Amino acid sequence: MDGLDGRIRVVKGDITTLEVDAIVNAANASLLGGGGVDGAIHRAAGPGLLAECRTLHGCDTGSAKVTAGYRLPARWVIHTVGPVWAGGTRGEPGLLASCYRTSLVLAATAGARSVAFPAISTGVYGYPIEAAARIAVREARAFLRASRVPETVFFCCFSQSDREVYEALLNQPEGA
Ligand code: ADP
Repeated sequence: MDGLDGRIRVVKGDITTLEVDAIVNAANASLLGGGGVDGAIHRAAGPGLLAECRTLHGCDTGSAKVTAGYRLPARWVIHTVGPVWAGGTRGEPGLLASCYRTSLVLAATAGARSVAFPAISTGVYGYPIEAAARIAVREARAFLRASRVPETVFFCCFSQSDREVYEALLNQPEGA
């Protein structure tokens, strides 16, 4: 247990259905939509989301930008661009950590009380789930310890096996 009193939770399902203040999109650098969770978010949000994304002129890997949520239950979408896994020697861990940190800063700045993350980079971008989830949990814990906002971070897993990875990490003390 991590002493964060339930401020980090794991759920399984479709992130586009979550009733949270902000959801994070695993976007690509163009911010103009793609497959996976990105495609699902654009489909659920409707065309207003793509129109706003066009005004943002893309996003660097490891960084993030906010839009409105349009037809989503979520008020905001935080679009972050994860690294493509290339074996782990091209700075991928630092870039992935930066995705989580930057997204959490933007969520806090917006005043989001709850934010949900997909498993960034672990789909088409090929980042191994165990290593990626370890970074996600480490960064969420560090951020929440230092900030009262957001109150709650959800890790939204698309598969039962991903869910088990996150739950195992959250049941370990930090640094284990
Ligand atoms: P990336 O390009 O960053 O790897 P993907 O969208 O391919 O992004 O995959 C990231 C993660 O999002 C994967 O674990 C994938 O299974 C998951 N995913 C796909 N669709 C959804 C969805 N609707 N809700 C939550 N997670 C999803």
